[in-house]
Amino acid sequence: MAVPIPQHSHCIICGKAIPYGEKFCSEKCKKEYENMVKKRKIYIYLMYLALAILVIMMFMNYFPH
Ligand SMILES: [Zn+2]
Repeated sequence: MAVPIPQHSHCIICGKAIPYGEKFCSEKCKKEYENMVKKRKIYIYLMYLALAILVIMMFMNYFPH
């Protein structure tokens, strides 16, 4: 007879089984996740910056002075 597995979650970083409703197994994984999110945010800002520079360059070509 199969033992019913209590409802549980998995740590987003290492995949370890953790109590249901939790996201991380430890502070270390939580910090790792926060670092990952921070890096992704910086990457998105850089993308916008590159796009803005591209648009400015296009405008400068469009309106020569
Ligand atoms: Zn973990």
